[in-house]
Amino acid sequence: VIPIVLVGAAGRMGRAVEEAARTADDLEIKARIDRAAPQPLPGVPGPGADPPGYADPTGPDGIQRIQGVEALGAVLARGDVAVDFTSPEGCARAARACAAAGAALVTGTTAIGADAEAALDEAARRVAVLRAPNFSLGLLALRRAVAAALASLPDTWDVEIVERHHRRKEDSPSGTAWLLAREAAAARGGDIAFRHGRDGRLGQRPQGEIGLHAVRGGTWTGDHAVLIAGDGESLELRHVAESRAAFAHGVLAAIRFVAASPAGLYTLEDVPPPKRAP
Ligand code: NAD
Repeated sequence: VIPIVLVGAAGRMGRAVEEAARTADDLEIKARIDRAAPQPLPGVPGPGADPPGYADPTGPDGIQRIQGVEALGAVLARGDVAVDFTSPEGCARAARACAAAGAALVTGTTAIGADAEAALDEAARRVAVLRAPNFSLGLLALRRAVAAALASLPDTWDVEIVERHHRRKEDSPSGTAWLLAREAAAARGGDIAFRHGRDGRLGQRPQGEIGLHAVRGGTWTGDHAVLIAGDGESLELRHVAESRAAFAHGVLAAIRFVAASPAGLYTLEDVPPPKRAP
């Protein structure tokens, strides 16, 4: 059984990982760490009247509660896997604590900045560190499928990316749409221009262009379609994330991977696809 130390346990992703890990026999949440006064986790008793810092991390029922971030160093041990979905500061702290304890790290915190970047690089010299901006296994499969499709089609086929996200999303197009666009451009080679949306008399579509289109509304978690259009035929490769569970499954695969890997910096691409049942 792989012991997991969940950093950012009270957050949206922390709770999604907790829920997913509960269904896996080979994983066990050893400790939950956060800096915030935690909200109750589904099925896990909340901190009740405990003061921040949680001097007694184990409730009367024997179930471990969320501990303050200062407990991280004391809790982590060799053989543990820390899972971090927090903030730049939380990520840097988790990386340093993992390196000191000899524990592996899976981190999905985004836009982390130079200090946490350096902490991750430093930690990767001593322990296995896996970092991914998007933990969806389906999205990884989409990227591979797009690469395979582009490799078998002439450059005259046009590539357009259409993404949909919930009405609260502030940036457009999504980081994942840009990632797909950059990878498509790299597969094509040469001089590729990106066009975000089209408006007005722009003239005919040039060949060396990849279009990105952002649709916003409702509660879509994340929906990315790559359209590849030729003369008289087209194909559409699409991934839909319906909930944060889509990311949590990739996190579990990453946990199993780092638990068995030597020191180094890894990405989700390094994780072998799950084997088919015999
Ligand atoms: P959230 O705000 O719901 O949760 C973050 C939690 O981390 C909070 O409970 C907060 O108190 C805690 N935290 C922050 N700094 C801390 C610190 N220094 N020490 C201890 N705890 C700390 O956010 P979220 O939606 O769960 O996202 C968290 C991060 O993960 C963001 O960077 C987000 O962009 C990223 N994210 C990545 C993926 C992916 O697939 N890689 C998916 C979703 C979100």
